[in-house]
Amino acid sequence: MAKTRGPRRTTNKDSVVVIGLGRFGRALALELVDEDTEVLGIDENAELVQQLSGSLTHVVRADSTNEDTLRQLGVHEFNRAVVAIGSNLEASILTASLLVSFGIPDVWAKALSEAQGRILTQLGVHHVVYPEHEMGQRVAHLVRGRMLDYIEFEDDFAMVKTKPPSGIIGYKLADTAVRSRYGITVVAIKRPGQGFTYATADTIVEADDTIIVAGRTRQTERFSELQ
Ligand code: ATP
Repeated sequence: MAKTRGPRRTTNKDSVVVIGLGRFGRALALELVDEDTEVLGIDENAELVQQLSGSLTHVVRADSTNEDTLRQLGVHEFNRAVVAIGSNLEASILTASLLVSFGIPDVWAKALSEAQGRILTQLGVHHVVYPEHEMGQRVAHLVRGRMLDYIEFEDDFAMVKTKPPSGIIGYKLADTAVRSRYGITVVAIKRPGQGFTYATADTIVEADDTIIVAGRTRQTERFSELQ
C-alpha cells in the first residue's frame, strides 16, 4: 500500500471516499473536489493514483477488498462512500459488503448489469446507479427531439433544456398559456450571452433564447419537438 499525498485520513464528516478511480470514479471524484468536498480516492492501480495525486484531497493505492487496509485508511469513519468498480465484479461485491458492514450510512455503488445491481442492493448498498444504462436512456431523449439537455426524475417528471417553439415567441409567458396548452411550465430562460434566470409570467421569450421547461416526461418531450 503506497500513500502518495496528504495526511492519513480526512476527518470531515462531509467528505467522501471514492473507491475505484476508473473513468466513472475519477469523473465523480474530480467533480466532488470541484464542489469543495474532500475526497479520499482509493485504487489499486499505481499509475492512476499517481495521475490523480495532485487533484484529489487524498489518493491512496490500496486493495479495497482488504478489510484491515480500509480500516487503516479510516474508511469506516466516513459517512459517504462510493464503490466505482464495475467490471471487476468480485472486487465490487467484496468492497461494497465491507463498506456496508462498517455501518457507513450512505453507500453508493455503480453496477454494469441488473444482476450486479441486484446483488449490491441485497448486500445493503443504499444507492445503486447504472451509468451506462441511465446515460443511454438520457441520450435517447436528446437524440429523439430538439432537446439540448434532459433530466428525468421519478414519477414521470422531467426537466428539459430546449429552444422555444415559434408559438410562444414574442408573447408574455402568461399569455401563451403553455401550462394548459402543452402541460408544461417554463421555469428558466437564458438570453444569448447571459446566464439563466427564472422565468416569470411577464417574461417574453425571444427566438434566440434557451428555455428550461418542467412537466410530465411525455409532455416535455412533445413540447421540445414543436417547431
Ligand atoms: P470505468 O469507470 O473506467 O468504466 P469499470 O466499470 O470498467 O471502470 P473496473 O475497471 O472494474 O470498472 O474498475 C474501476 C477501477 O477500480 C480501476 O481503476 C481499478 O484499478 C479499480 N479497482 C478494481 N478492483 C480494485 C480493488 N480490489 N481495489 C482497488 N481498486 C480496484
